[in-house]
Amino acid sequence: MTDPSETRSGEEPLFQLSPPERRHQEAILLEEARHRVERCLRCPLGKTRNKPVFGEGNLWGKLLFVGEGPGADEDEQGMPFVGRAGQLLTQILQAAGIRREDVYITNVVKCRPPGNRVPTFEEMMACDEYLQTQIALGRPSLLVLLGNTPTKWILKTTEGISKLRGRWFSWKGMSVLPMFHPSYLLRYPSSTEGSPKHLTWLDIQEVKRKWDEVRGTDLCSEGEGQSS
Ligand code: SF4
Repeated sequence: MTDPSETRSGEEPLFQLSPPERRHQEAILLEEARHRVERCLRCPLGKTRNKPVFGEGNLWGKLLFVGEGPGADEDEQGMPFVGRAGQLLTQILQAAGIRREDVYITNVVKCRPPGNRVPTFEEMMACDEYLQTQIALGRPSLLVLLGNTPTKWILKTTEGISKLRGRWFSWKGMSVLPMFHPSYLLRYPSSTEGSPKHLTWLDIQEVKRKWDEVRGTDLCSEGEGQSS
């Protein structure tokens, strides 16, 4: 698959453009991908969805959250993480000092699996190009994988989320941290020490620490560039 961040059809590679021009072209390519998803019937989920859920937020905020797939509320509204689990995610982000609109949130599959079942391998395979396009265009430094499905899909592991959560992994030059899915936290509301909620609180603070670090590094390098 051609990396969409590297080429524009019939034009010069994106990396040869100035940063503002590059961002502009990436935004155009992102919209093109969104329109492809709106028409997509590449897997059976396309026939049963109400609205596809492409993703939302600032793709260039260096921090990308990936969930499993849209649920009923998301399918209704066409936006990711807007149901009860999504509201909890928003609260978790806010508590850690992360504004939801400053990061990007999407899913492995862009259409709702009926009955909220786990998407099949074939469905994830069919949809992967869209996630890879989002990652290639946004070039995030940090990926947070919400729950078992994105963790297994991205890290190609059979280990469960309970073992992997809270640890940084390296994938395609990015730092990747698996975290519990907020819908799991809704089922285990206790926040005593060692509970899923407590562990998630530790994890999101770690994400915030690392996010500050990568953004700080960027600001420093921009500053160096201006003073030289
Ligand atoms: S889930 Fe992905 S591959 Fe399947 S129809 Fe929707 S957008 Fe297309």
